[in-house]
Amino acid sequence: MGMNSRISKIRIPENAKKIIGLLEEAGYEAFVVGGCVRDAVFGRTPSDWDITTQALPEEMLTVFRDIHVVPTGLKHGTVTVVMDGENYEVTTYRVDGEYKDSRHPESVEFVRDITEDLSRRDFTINAMAYSDERGFVDHFGGMEDLERGVIRCVGDPEKRFSEDALRILRCVRFASQLGFSIEEETARAIYDTLPLLGNIAAERIRVEFEKLLCGAGAGKVLEEHREVIASFIPEIRPMFDLDQENPFHLYDVWMHTVHAVSAAEAPGVDERLLKLAAFFHDIGKPPCKVVDRGWGHFYHHEHVGADMTDEIMRRLRFDNETRKTVVMLIKKHGTVFNPNGKQARRLLAKMGEDDLALLIALEKADVSAQHPDYVEERLENIGVFEEKVRELAEGEQCFRMGDMKIDGRDIMALGVEQGREIGRIKNELFERVVEGLLENDREALLAEAKTLVSEMVKEC
Ligand code: ATP
Ligand code: MG
Repeated sequence: MGMNSRISKIRIPENAKKIIGLLEEAGYEAFVVGGCVRDAVFGRTPSDWDITTQALPEEMLTVFRDIHVVPTGLKHGTVTVVMDGENYEVTTYRVDGEYKDSRHPESVEFVRDITEDLSRRDFTINAMAYSDERGFVDHFGGMEDLERGVIRCVGDPEKRFSEDALRILRCVRFASQLGFSIEEETARAIYDTLPLLGNIAAERIRVEFEKLLCGAGAGKVLEEHREVIASFIPEIRPMFDLDQENPFHLYDVWMHTVHAVSAAEAPGVDERLLKLAAFFHDIGKPPCKVVDRGWGHFYHHEHVGADMTDEIMRRLRFDNETRKTVVMLIKKHGTVFNPNGKQARRLLAKMGEDDLALLIALEKADVSAQHPDYVEERLENIGVFEEKVRELAEGEQCFRMGDMKIDGRDIMALGVEQGREIGRIKNELFERVVEGLLENDREALLAEAKTLVSEMVKEC
C-alpha cells in the first residue's frame, strides 16, 4: 500500500482554512497549492502555504475587504493576506504567456479552471492542490511520483526547461532535497537545454545551488549530475576522474569532494557554510598536482583553491561575509591538529569559537571522505583536539586580540608610524600572551613592545 492510497487529507493551518473558507463562501474555488502540498504529503514541514483561487484579483479584494491585504503582485494576480502575523500569498488561477528570455513570461492570463493553473507548474510533485472541502486535485500524477521518489516535468520537459531555464536547477535541487531521482526524459531534457542556464541571473543560480548542497541527497546529485554544476562552475571539471595517486585516498578528486559534502554535518555549526567549504575545499588540487616517484602531491592547493573559491563566489554573488568565511576555511583546511592544548588555545584565540568549529567539522568531513582504512584513527585525533577546544571555550580562558591591555595608539606612541608595522607588533604580542610567554599586563606589554620596536630599528 503506497502513500497514494493512504493519504486523503493533509493538515493545513487554521488561517489558510479561513482564507479558503472566505473565498468558497463568496462562490470561488480555493486551494492550498504547490510546494506546501508536496511537503505536507511527504511529511516535511512546509515553509509557507500558498493559496490559489478562481477569484480574479478585484474579486479577491472584495472578498478580503475586511482583512489586512497587501497587493504584492496584483498584476500577476497575487495578494498577500496577513493574519495573526502570518503571511499567505493568494494568487488567481493563471497561465503564463510567451517566454522570451528563458526566464520571464511576457504576460500572464487569468483562467477559471484549476487544471490550467496546475499545468503551468514545473514538476508533477509541485502541481497538486488541496482543500478540506474538495480534497486533492492531482491531474499530472504528482502523488504517484511523490510516492515513487521521482521528479518529472509537467508536460514536455524540453519545452518546459526552454521556457524557464531556472527549472533545470530547481529540478536537481529538489532531487537533492527530497532524495529523489530524475525521470529519464526529464533528465535528458536537462542536458539538451543546459546552455540556457546562461540566461539566468547569478543570484538565482546561487540560491538553488546552496539549497542543493544542503539537501540530504546532495551526494547522489553531485555525482550523477556533475555537468549541471559544471555549467556554472566550470572550474570543477578538471577534478572529474582526477586520480590522486595516493594510498590515503580511495576516490578521485571529484568523488572525494562528493563524499566530503555528504559527510559534512555537525550539530551547532552553520550547515550552509560547512557544505560550501566542503564543496570547494579541493578545487585547487588539479592545477597543483605533481607526481613524484609514483605519489601524487598537491602542494599549496589550499591557497590556490582559496583564490579560486574567492573568484567563483564573487561571480555567483555570494555576500561578503559568506565568501570570506568559506575562503578562510579553504585556506586553513588540512591543518594538522595537535592534541596538546597550545594549538587549540592559539586557534581559538585567533579564529573564534564559531570559525574553529567550522574548521573542525570540515576536517572531519575531509577525513571521512579519504581511504576508509584511516578514517577511524584520524577522526579520533580530531576528536581529541575538539575536546580540548571545548574545555578551553567553557573555561573562559579564551583570549582575543581585543582583550589585550595595549592598543595601536600605545604602539604609535613608541614612535612607530607605519600601519602595517603596528599590526605586526600587536600580532607578536598577542601570540606571546596566548602562548603564556607574556602576561596581559599593560606595563609588561609596553616593555615587550619597546624591545620589538628597537629590534625593528636594528633590522632596518
Ligand atoms: P520551496 O520549498 O523552495 O519553497 P516550492 O516548490 O514551494 O519550494 P516556490 O518557489 O515557493 O517553490 O514556488 C511555489 C510553487 O510555484 C511551486 O511548487 C511550483 O508549483 C510553482 N513554481 C515555482 N517556480 C516555478 C517555475 N520556475 N516554473 C514553474 N512553476 C514554478
Ligand atoms: Mg514555497
